[in-house]
Amino acid sequence: MNQIRPVKPLISEVLFGRMQETLARGEKILLSLNRRGAMSTLVCRDCGWAARCPSCDLLMRVHTKPENSLLCHFCESKWSLPEKCPQCHSYHLVQSGARVQSIDTHVRELLPEARILLIEDLNKVTPKTLTEYDIFIGTQKISSLPIENLGLTAFLLVESDLAVPDYDIEESMYQQIRHFFYRSRDIILQTRSPKLPLITEVTSGNFRSFFQKTVTERKQFHLPPFTQMVTVYISDSSESVVQQRIASTASSMIEAAKHTSDTTVLYDHLLFEKRAGKYRQKILIRSPNMVSFLEPFRAQLVRGRGIEVEWL
Ligand SMILES: [Zn+2]
Ligand SMILES: [Zn+2]
Repeated sequence: MNQIRPVKPLISEVLFGRMQETLARGEKILLSLNRRGAMSTLVCRDCGWAARCPSCDLLMRVHTKPENSLLCHFCESKWSLPEKCPQCHSYHLVQSGARVQSIDTHVRELLPEARILLIEDLNKVTPKTLTEYDIFIGTQKISSLPIENLGLTAFLLVESDLAVPDYDIEESMYQQIRHFFYRSRDIILQTRSPKLPLITEVTSGNFRSFFQKTVTERKQFHLPPFTQMVTVYISDSSESVVQQRIASTASSMIEAAKHTSDTTVLYDHLLFEKRAGKYRQKILIRSPNMVSFLEPFRAQLVRGRGIEVEWL
């Protein structure tokens, strides 16, 4: 995407050409862009470096408010934007991001004759719908869609799909892309950072080396299956109630973690999520013995109103 002229944002000249060819052959097209990754990440054009959280190994997102910074959406740690690439010292760092909403408008403008379906909810797609359209735009995991006669699958911006706060996002992307190697005549991966390790791994198809690298990283970053992880969410319609409750739970957990080996408790008292009119904050816990670590908090977690515990 750095060298090829875009016809529309996220639709390169190459992709557009292939789309026209595919439709001319009477085959179907699948365009993939994960909505959850629709924010900017920081990548190096020259060497494939991408800004990763030093404690979670996940791609960080660029935030411009209140100031320019990189934020890990998993552990919520915050860093300043580097001026040059820490790996190859190039100044060609780019903020690479995507807006899902406008993709289908752009595709409709380019190919007004084509029947286009924007898939926002996989449950609403029936086998019949799949026969009625030529182009599908998927905003989540789309590999389960049984589209027949698939001529072209394009991942519109790989780094954006990777910027999702799940520790297994690389494995899931690897699997998704490889899946289409068997189902789609052509595959296009668009990126502004062509040397991203995932792209090399997917195209070489060396599963063993990808597996070994992933296992090593999970071990190094204390991720499952080498530890256990839990997120505790506390929500309420009042911001200050959430803040008070999470502060007291978090501080007793942080205290308990000091006496438990290899256990970490992370929480950022400033970061709020707002969902369905409720404020929500989270505590992230990593521990090799989660059940015994959580035991003393059991009553509090089970009976507490507005508390959700999620195993990762
Ligand atoms: Zn670089
Ligand atoms: Zn992190």
